[in-house]
Amino acid sequence: MARYTGSVCRQCRRENMKLFLKGDRCFSDKCSFDRRGYPPGQHGQRRSKQSDYGIQLREKQKVRRIYGISEKQFRLSFKKADRQKGITGTNLLSLLETRLDNAVFRLGFVNSRSQGRHFVRHNHFIVNGNKVNIPSYQVKKGDVIELREKSRKVQAISDSLDAIVRRGVPQWLEINKDNFKGQIVGIPTREDITLPIQEQLIVELYSK
Ligand code: SF4
Repeated sequence: MARYTGSVCRQCRRENMKLFLKGDRCFSDKCSFDRRGYPPGQHGQRRSKQSDYGIQLREKQKVRRIYGISEKQFRLSFKKADRQKGITGTNLLSLLETRLDNAVFRLGFVNSRSQGRHFVRHNHFIVNGNKVNIPSYQVKKGDVIELREKSRKVQAISDSLDAIVRRGVPQWLEINKDNFKGQIVGIPTREDITLPIQEQLIVELYSK
């Protein structure tokens, strides 16, 4: 699968907003967007008027970058959301939120979605008693995500769990830090996604 290997912070500057892709760094004075809050490149500081298509495209790229997934995977999620009952845009965000790599991030086991993806791939988590190393695995209500015994001493995970007080856990999840277990107790609602996303623009883009 094609993977973005360029500068992570450049993506925030391209989308003209903080996407919070680098964990604690995003809250420090080292944040590139805070220091250079304009698009990268030679003409980054030029103002240009965007077409409707351009606005829709940027919105899609922004959401894709927040969740760190490829165009192909994103489009598959959209198709699945479109087939479900309800509002396609909300369905799409719900599908993205319930990816395993996002769920471990939201539970506080890791400090970014990319770290979540890395740790899931390296077999640090068990879902309902089974080893799962697929970042796109969809969790559902009732699932229990547990950190494997041998992973409980990983410093990055302990640090992240300590920081969860600051970030908070959304209402569809519950974390028990003492026994390294998280549970899916509901389904994510639109209100749980606090980043400024206009999902309707993505629906319009893919409906052309
Ligand atoms: Fe974006 Fe975080 Fe980098 Fe700031 S530090 S530019 S929020 S990824």
